[in-house]
Amino acid sequence: MNKINSLNKIPSINRILNDPKIVSLVDDYGARVVTRCAQNVIQKARSSLLTGKSTEYKTLIKDLREETFNAFQPSLRPLFNLTGVVLHTNLGRASLPLAAIDAVIEAAARPTNLEMDLKTGQRGDRNKHCEDLICQLTGSERAIVVNNNAAAVLVTLSSLARRKEVPVSRGELVEIGGSFRMPDIMAHAGCKLVEVGTTNRTHEKDFEMAINAKTALLMKVHTSNFEIQGFKSSVSEKQLAEIAHCHDLPLISDLGSGNLIDLKSYNLPEEKTVTDTLKAGADLVTFSGDKLLGGPQCGIIAGRDDLVKRIKSNPLIRAMRADKMTLAALQAVLRLYENPQKLAAELPTLRLLIRKEEDIRRMANCLISKVQAQCPGFVVSIEPVESQIGSGALPIKRLASVGLKITTASQRRTGKALESLSSAFRDLQIPVIGRINKGALWFDLRCLEDQNQFINNLKSLNFE
Ligand SMILES: *Cc1c(COP(=O)(O)O)cnc(C)c1O
Repeated sequence: MNKINSLNKIPSINRILNDPKIVSLVDDYGARVVTRCAQNVIQKARSSLLTGKSTEYKTLIKDLREETFNAFQPSLRPLFNLTGVVLHTNLGRASLPLAAIDAVIEAAARPTNLEMDLKTGQRGDRNKHCEDLICQLTGSERAIVVNNNAAAVLVTLSSLARRKEVPVSRGELVEIGGSFRMPDIMAHAGCKLVEVGTTNRTHEKDFEMAINAKTALLMKVHTSNFEIQGFKSSVSEKQLAEIAHCHDLPLISDLGSGNLIDLKSYNLPEEKTVTDTLKAGADLVTFSGDKLLGGPQCGIIAGRDDLVKRIKSNPLIRAMRADKMTLAALQAVLRLYENPQKLAAELPTLRLLIRKEEDIRRMANCLISKVQAQCPGFVVSIEPVESQIGSGALPIKRLASVGLKITTASQRRTGKALESLSSAFRDLQIPVIGRINKGALWFDLRCLEDQNQFINNLKSLNFE
């Protein structure tokens, strides 16, 4: 009687919703969702019947429970980033340190003095929560936080260069990806881009010649995601600052990643700090909060008092202001920078970047047999790989790392087999994201910290 082997035996929605196994589901998730899922499940049963396959009533109820649980999974899911790109924009860039997570929870759960001065009871400035820290850490006079660095660049240009000209080297007219193109941003900020120099060589005299009465400022853009090699020359911040100041113009530097520490002391490739850039003469810098800085998504504008003030009074700022959770997280992250001894242990981004090759190899040695056991028909090996920092920080520099390389045991249909294996890894409770390259699936283990969780998660790997 429980076999549904003809269309008229398919139970009604009402009957299903009143099944004791489903009543509790309705309690937990609401009738609307369960009804929608029940319609799907019934539709599937009907389609199978039409192709001659019958269903058990029991199975239908089980499917409905599963479908409802799945419908309630958040679409934003934590995963293992084994792509080898530490700051991966598609995977959410920097992971926050615990101190920042705690701060976010506190700020999110209750009313806060986001814009209130508790001493006077008067309206306060939300930027105050981070401004002093940014100034101390970078040597800037003032700072403002907006939603991301793209917004920082846009509002800076719109505040200081509207209806005016901005000379930029042709070698720095970058596209960062996700439609951030310097020429387009300039157009939207209402200023006129004046291209100077050539793609590979720009000289001081190119800027000198471009400056006229309509020039608003000089701008330098970090060539975040590429590097020109060979016959090249560019004008340094110091030289640009001299030219700009000679003409009474400010120099703006879009740093992109925005580094606050001496990376060389951690054996990482060298990258100029925000402080260096300001010292070299830039009047304002803009940079991201969730790239090398390792904090929440935001953009920071730091530098000269009068310029930041002008930006603060731009009405666009209101449309770009950072929310309380971002500001809480940023403050917690910046505080970590005040104690450099502990920074590497507590800031996930830095911790992952400086992870030692031996340490990663040890993990690979532990994991290889476990992964091999779950991947019959494939061959797993340990290989040296090179991680990238990502998000346009030090684009061509690589960090020596260790990975698992998975190839097919037979040479037939390799591409398809690898696709289906990598899709099975994405299908896990905690998806595992690797990279297919040169006929193999690669997992760079640099960003894997919780080995046990990884192994447990692997147990349900399922592929055809
Ligand atoms: C990444 C980057 C941006 C954009 O920053 P977001 O925080 O992603 O908005 C702008 N300029 C440069 C040079 C960058 O590297």
